[in-house]
Amino acid sequence: MRRPITKEAITKGDPFLLPKPLSYMKSEIKSAALSIWQDNWDNGETGRSTHDIVPRVSNKPVGWNREEIMFVTGQGPFPSYLHRFNLPTHDNCSCGEKGDLMHYATKCRFTLYWHFQTPAVSLKLQWLKNIPTNNLSRTRLRLLMRFICDENNLIVEDNN
Ligand SMILES: [Zn+2]
Repeated sequence: MRRPITKEAITKGDPFLLPKPLSYMKSEIKSAALSIWQDNWDNGETGRSTHDIVPRVSNKPVGWNREEIMFVTGQGPFPSYLHRFNLPTHDNCSCGEKGDLMHYATKCRFTLYWHFQTPAVSLKLQWLKNIPTNNLSRTRLRLLMRFICDENNLIVEDNN
């Protein structure tokens, strides 16, 4: 014999736990991991210039090629970067100026053909952020970086 469902049975029945679906747990874990990663990224000591350009962590690939990664991180065959490892023993370009990324992207006579317009100091961060998002700039950047890699003997002059 079926008993009618009363309002009391619905509101005063024994509580029970409905297990949460696995997809919910996965999303909670992912969210917690991203939050830890973001915290480490925000408070880390290395990669600060990259943090300025890419402040938010994400599992999605940014879609940058090798040349763009060198540009954003400043880690490439530039005297200013190689000098950290004492190769070469100074951080100058063979033209005599400090051989960092900005030098090759805007000033060096060896890379004149691929120069970008020098940004105002206050706009430098926006300038760095914009280059990987613009197709013409990306092409120019790729050619500039390839030149720096291929002609490294020209720009990096060791005085040993
Ligand atoms: Zn130079």
